[in-house]
Amino acid sequence: MTNKKKILVVKNIHEAGLNLIKKNPNFEFEIIEKPDLNILKEKIIDCDAIAIKTTQLTEEIINLGKKIKIISRHGVGYDNIDLNSSKKNNITVTITATANAVAVAEHVMFMLLNISKRKNMYDKAVKSGKFDDRNKLPKTLEIWGKNILIIGFGRIGKCLIKRCLGFEMNVYVYDPHVNKEIIKSLGGKKVENLSDAVKDMDVISLHVPLNDQTKNMIDFSLIKKMRKNCIIINASRGGIINEIDLDRALNENLIFGAGLDVFEVEPPNKDNPLLINDKTFLSPHTSSFTEESMIRMSKETIQNIIDFFDKKLEKSKIVKL
Ligand code: NAD
Repeated sequence: MTNKKKILVVKNIHEAGLNLIKKNPNFEFEIIEKPDLNILKEKIIDCDAIAIKTTQLTEEIINLGKKIKIISRHGVGYDNIDLNSSKKNNITVTITATANAVAVAEHVMFMLLNISKRKNMYDKAVKSGKFDDRNKLPKTLEIWGKNILIIGFGRIGKCLIKRCLGFEMNVYVYDPHVNKEIIKSLGGKKVENLSDAVKDMDVISLHVPLNDQTKNMIDFSLIKKMRKNCIIINASRGGIINEIDLDRALNENLIFGAGLDVFEVEPPNKDNPLLINDKTFLSPHTSSFTEESMIRMSKETIQNIIDFFDKKLEKSKIVKL
């Protein structure tokens, strides 16, 4: 019998995190690379902690983990974890609260610049020998002086505003849970009514969790109110924008373009029309995948587990159940 706490690492994480426990006599770990349901059900039984990325932790799986005390999420969204059964089983759920906001905020700027500068079209023209098409191609857009609406003003929203102000954009914020003085002190202006606010925006970027209130928050009726040059970016969770509505709106030229890092189904179905729509700029749920952020997330994921068992886990890392 060993007194070591066993950590189940579901899908590999950067070795920087694992190095924190490799020589620690109090912990051992096992990595499962391909977590199919049966493997997960078998492995969870004798573990004390679980480090998880986006694999679904359903009620059925959580109930099997009788020894599990902590679920440490590698990331900040926790919609893949059944919180009710975590609560019932007295399991603490943590997130890597400080690790990935900069990476996501930079990714939003990357998408915004690529879409407004029509990267796909211009890059293709040069590479296919059509340099002289430069005068025929549709013009690009500036982001200077444009209005951006940040929906959700938490860790990522607050990182994004600094980058937008650096580009001299006018920043508006929709977040009913953040007061207007905080938003003002960071250089933004609070808006109260989403449906009214979108009419005046050139860019809309989503940074809310996926839940019953935010699912399909951006649908056809809302997109119809937007400016024709509006660019929508979703690096939060798939399902917050209704994909069918978005594709229709892009095809009807109701908005300029969309940057999507996340999808309703991941990987998206092969017949998802957004995959072949020229007005989309896509990435495979990788906005936090910078080398730096992966190191920070891996370390924080494991450190949260160590701190939990050492009884010194910070409250800001714990998800309220
Ligand atoms: P956070 O919890 O710090 O901030 C979320 C903000 O959304 C809060 O301020 C909250 O008040 C606000 N909010 C909640 N419901 C709202 C609503 N209905 N309308 C407007 N605002 C609302 O979270 P964060 O760290 O900023 O991350 C935001 C989301 O981004 C996460 O929930 C996660 O799903 C997603 N995310 C995605 C990636 C990625 O790889 N694409 C990486 C990190 C986070």
